[in-house]
Amino acid sequence: MFRKEDKEIIKAYLEDGSGIRDAFCEAVIFPESISEAQEFLRESALKKIPVTISGARTGVTGAGLPYGGVVLATERLNKILEIVKTAKGGYAVVEPGVRIVDLDEEIRRFGLLYLPQPTENNAFIGGTLATNASGARGFKYGSTRNYVRRIKVVLSSGEIWEIKRGEVFANQRKFKINLGGGDREILLPNYTVPNLKTSAGYFVKENMDLIDLFMGQEGTLGLITEIELSLAPRDRNIFGIILFFKEESKALDVVHKIKEVSFLTRKGKIKSNLDALSLEFFDFFSLQLLREKFPQIPQDIETALLVEQEYTPENQNVVLDEWVNFLDKKGILLENSWFSQTDKEKEFFQDFRHSLPELVNMIVRKKGFPKIGTDMAVPGEKFGSVYKFYKSLLKEANLEYVIFGHIGDNHLHINILPQNGEEFIKAKNIYTEMVKKVVEMGGTVSAEHGIGKLKHKYLEIMFGKEAIKEMAYLKKQFDPALILGLDNIFPKELLFTL
Ligand SMILES: Cc1cc2nc3c(=O)[nH]c(=O)nc-3n(C[C@H](O)[C@H](O)[C@H](O)COP(=O)(O)OP(=O)(O)OC[C@H]3O[C@@H](n4cnc5c(N)ncnc54)[C@H](O)[C@@H]3O)c2cc1C
Repeated sequence: MFRKEDKEIIKAYLEDGSGIRDAFCEAVIFPESISEAQEFLRESALKKIPVTISGARTGVTGAGLPYGGVVLATERLNKILEIVKTAKGGYAVVEPGVRIVDLDEEIRRFGLLYLPQPTENNAFIGGTLATNASGARGFKYGSTRNYVRRIKVVLSSGEIWEIKRGEVFANQRKFKINLGGGDREILLPNYTVPNLKTSAGYFVKENMDLIDLFMGQEGTLGLITEIELSLAPRDRNIFGIILFFKEESKALDVVHKIKEVSFLTRKGKIKSNLDALSLEFFDFFSLQLLREKFPQIPQDIETALLVEQEYTPENQNVVLDEWVNFLDKKGILLENSWFSQTDKEKEFFQDFRHSLPELVNMIVRKKGFPKIGTDMAVPGEKFGSVYKFYKSLLKEANLEYVIFGHIGDNHLHINILPQNGEEFIKAKNIYTEMVKKVVEMGGTVSAEHGIGKLKHKYLEIMFGKEAIKEMAYLKKQFDPALILGLDNIFPKELLFTL
């Protein structure tokens, strides 16, 4: 197993998408097999050396960054072990260091598709499990958790657990586990996870499947070393529509209608093909920013929506006609809209959507101050009032910001862009106000990015002090040596006071 202590090599493992710049560690190790990882973890536990698991470091909360100890890089555990096609789809068995983009390339040859597709396709599959990532298409397909059939996990004790979905369930809030290392009892916390898209703290609920505890664990419970993912047939095409609105209120109304019709179609309550795959939002300031790269965006526009829909070669025209009729009836001027059907147009749409976070990051680099990025979701019926609240706070504070994201899931990313220390403090205060409102409305402080090292305070607002202590206790039951993913989800000091 390689171990690198050279400062120049280590440097790359001290930065991710979070903007954290003070991470440090003594070495990075690169296991190439499960047994190497097992041996290393066992030894680290004995010596009480903190271990931070690193994926592709595309995370935005610093969860893959170390504050001391050693980094365990998963990049050499990067084999696709098996791809199997079945009558209904198939599955793939992969090591954690496989990138989403590489998996996609391989399974494409088998006519298979991995449905969750988080936007950052350089992320490793292991990282996406550990954060329970989801993407724009989560509106239809949900998060990573739904696609994980089996995992192998190495605990800090060196035990290897193979967990198959549907095999180990909690009795109320207690697991009795025997996965080869003798009988174990694990007590689950008592807090309630909101029933919406969330990656805030450990996912727990009564009678849950053990495998789900490892989705969103942020490298704190165990090292995921093998993953079996369910795959769908690659038998669908996707077209996109970008709709431009002169008034934001009109866009929000259309969002509501698109969600309504999509849910009715999915539940089979109406005979329709209208079932949006994704439903994305761009506010006025996002469009202003995007105009730098896409000057063809119409002027006098307040808001845009991007809608994607699946179709098969057989129903392509029918589905397209249905959308045209639907939008026409809602009074939307289709001559002002963009459609993507050809490969080139689809690439353009992809670029359009992916450019925004990149443009934001460019501004951040130029200003030299970190952005404040939110990742909160609320129940559908609360979205309108929470959105108004966000806007009034932002307007009052007179700060630069953009709002974009997964409006289909009532999940928007607000990026506040301060330009000096004073504005930064103001932005943080606003964020806290937003968090309080979201929590009051039954929402989550993280819908997809996780808590990492940056959002402890918000998780505490969401669940309360007692629940955070329970989370720490849960971690301790899996990792009694207290070495894995320290400072992720909650401050490490909490672990040592239990
Ligand atoms: C431009 C951009 C767009 C993004 N879009 C999305 C999006 O659409 N949806 C979304 O959900 N996120 C998105 N993200 C965030 C990020 O891509 C995800 O959080 C991703 O899941 C992180 O994967 P990674 O491999 O980079 O993990 P890292 O950042 O390296 O680590 C993330 C966490 O996973 C843990 N971990 C990694 N591998 C393992 C393992 N094998 N076993 C146990 N724990 C492990 C780490 O310890 C850490 O806690 C985006 C980020 C960027 C920069």
